[in-house]
Amino acid sequence: MGMGYTLVCKKCGYSRHLFLGCGMMYNEVLREKTEEARQGQHGERLRTLFERYPNGCIDAMNNLYYCPDCRTVACESSLDFFKPKDPARDAEDDFFGPDMDEFEQVEKHQHLCPGCGKPMREVMRLTENEPVNCPECGGAMESGHPLLWD
Ligand SMILES: [Zn+2]
Ligand SMILES: [Zn+2]
Repeated sequence: MGMGYTLVCKKCGYSRHLFLGCGMMYNEVLREKTEEARQGQHGERLRTLFERYPNGCIDAMNNLYYCPDCRTVACESSLDFFKPKDPARDAEDDFFGPDMDEFEQVEKHQHLCPGCGKPMREVMRLTENEPVNCPECGGAMESGHPLLWD
């Protein structure tokens, strides 16, 4: 099952659908992102981490990221890096994806804005303290209907 929600601007009505889950596709996405990260397509830092912890893994779940500078909203795989608690753990066992209980986070991946290149902020929920503003008019965005599908 997938999930997501809609962000709606109270002022001008601009809306944006965000798909956060990838359900059954998760393992495929994870494999693809891991391969990309190992090859350095997601930055030198992740490539180095995979070199240091070859049996480490990344979190490929989609999160919401927001750039306060140019108001770009992006939905991207988190790519936070985890290493196995047991250094001898064999990643080949993970047919159904890694059991995250066996891993600990090494560091959070720094997401850069596709618009202006500045660091983006991870949005866990919409609050007044950390607002997400409308790309069109700058008004505060709020979350509309949750989206769920099979
Ligand atoms: Zn607006
Ligand atoms: Zn930006």
